[in-house]
Amino acid sequence: MPEWIRKRCFYSIKSMKRTLVSCYGLCLLMTLILWLMYAEYKKLGYIRVKGNIYSGQDSILTLYGCTFVVALMIIMTIYSTFYGLYQAKRGKISNLPVNSICYNCESVFNISEITSMVCTKCGGTLEDLKGFYDRYPEKNTTG
Ligand SMILES: [Zn+2]
Repeated sequence: MPEWIRKRCFYSIKSMKRTLVSCYGLCLLMTLILWLMYAEYKKLGYIRVKGNIYSGQDSILTLYGCTFVVALMIIMTIYSTFYGLYQAKRGKISNLPVNSICYNCESVFNISEITSMVCTKCGGTLEDLKGFYDRYPEKNTTG
């Protein structure tokens, strides 16, 4: 798995779930479109892609091409699922929140800056930034 994909899509359990859900959604959509193309070809003997009509040899090649692309996407998605599960099992995917805040000094950290829920500045306990000021309204004095 390329580093930039790993950093972008697999930096946390949450982001991994989001990535995989959209991948499966896309695969499902593409499969549906492909199925419709095949159905149209069966019925009409030609297919239309963006207003262009492909018939005979061209339609077969277009269908094969699209099938290949969809199959590749499905393989990639399944591979990503196993990759994600494997990495998560090895503890390589962080379960930390994307942005966290120190309870003591209120420093904010991105997930790439920390390896545990301990503040690197003061040693205080980090919490999920999301909802922090709702949980501790008294902290919200600096505005
Ligand atoms: Zn701190």
